[in-house]
Amino acid sequence: MTLTPSPPMGDRARWFAGVTAPADDDLATCVACGLCLPHCPTFRVMGREDHSPRGRIAAMRTIAEGRAEVDETFGRMMDECLACRACEAACPSGVPYGRMIEAARAQVEVIRPAPAKGVRRAGLAWALPRRRVTRAMAFGLGVAQALRLDRLAPERMRASTPRVSLRELVTPLGADRGSGPVAALLVGCVMEGAFRPVHRATLEAVAGAGYRAVVPRDNGCCGALAAHYGQPDAARSMARARIRDLERADLVVVNSAGCSAHMKAYGELLHDDPAWAARAEAFSAKVRDVVEMDLRPAPPPSGPLGPVAVHDACHHLHAQGIGPELRRMLTAAGGECRELRDAGRCCGAAGLYAMLEPEMGSELRLQKARAIAETGAPVVAVANPGCAMQIRTGLHEIGADVRVAHPVELLHPSGGATGST
Ligand code: SF4
Ligand code: SF4
Repeated sequence: MTLTPSPPMGDRARWFAGVTAPADDDLATCVACGLCLPHCPTFRVMGREDHSPRGRIAAMRTIAEGRAEVDETFGRMMDECLACRACEAACPSGVPYGRMIEAARAQVEVIRPAPAKGVRRAGLAWALPRRRVTRAMAFGLGVAQALRLDRLAPERMRASTPRVSLRELVTPLGADRGSGPVAALLVGCVMEGAFRPVHRATLEAVAGAGYRAVVPRDNGCCGALAAHYGQPDAARSMARARIRDLERADLVVVNSAGCSAHMKAYGELLHDDPAWAARAEAFSAKVRDVVEMDLRPAPPPSGPLGPVAVHDACHHLHAQGIGPELRRMLTAAGGECRELRDAGRCCGAAGLYAMLEPEMGSELRLQKARAIAETGAPVVAVANPGCAMQIRTGLHEIGADVRVAHPVELLHPSGGATGST
């Protein structure tokens, strides 16, 4: 088997989470044409310039030129952005909005009240890098669910939370499988605790495609959430750790759209660190989202999958340009793809957005759930854990009986223990 280098992602996929303010050159790329406005979910809901990409970039520029200080108003404008990057994909001037909003949020972090800052640092910079902590949290959730203590939680929270199987958690993901070039799986944080069946299906599918599928013991969170929420130092430290853990493999396989988009940008994240820049660039070239790998269903075919609604995660569609690959995988699984109305619009999950901005998160969630229900498909393919939880909640809220599954689970239903996210 010949390994081909990772396809170029283009400037729109690049992030500079290591910087602490949007770069002047980046700010200068916006010509204020407004062509991105119809693609921006927050502008479409609110209809206001300060909820648009153009308005947000103008505010960033005002700060950069010293005409205003970073204050609460600026902070709200940046926080209300989903960082979905639909504007970036639509912009004819090539505005690198993703790295600009990352940097602007790092600016905002400085003025956040101490309690909010402390909570964010505890979660994003202390807990996420520690795999023992994230696993302990998953165990805690599993125990609470087993004891039915989750009944005490609000219904919406229960609907969005995946079932955590304690048996799953204590069952190793398995020894090396298959033979060929080494493909190492990123276990991640949320994926490891709450979506282990997706990991099992991924390993089976990758081994079946002619790779030696391995799960290195040293492994963990990719750092995407830290990068998205103003913690560049923590994000860089997690990137270095994952490079150390996984760089010996021929490929690094990732089954969460947000994580693969972020890891493909490790080269950018560490570009100004002479000891790591080249190593990070080489690592990013090995990263593959499982959806873009040419995988086949497990023989014998389990029969046609039938109609399946297709959800494009923003970090697939806008950040990596992955779209046809997802449909190819679902078709290979025997699925008849059903497209969503307004398919490129964010579902409102956007990392921690639904939790931090519940009103907008809820509006976008319901829009997405209705679009899925309209297709009439009994299952929706979702390749990102945040989207899966958000969409599951939305479907529950509108009373739609639609199963949420990762596309690789549909391709290899026997790979996952439960077969469903
Ligand atoms: S971000 Fe791009 S599309 Fe939007 S206003 Fe600026 S130049 Fe125009
Ligand atoms: S990232 Fe998404 S929400 Fe933010 S300005 Fe761009 S299109 Fe709008």
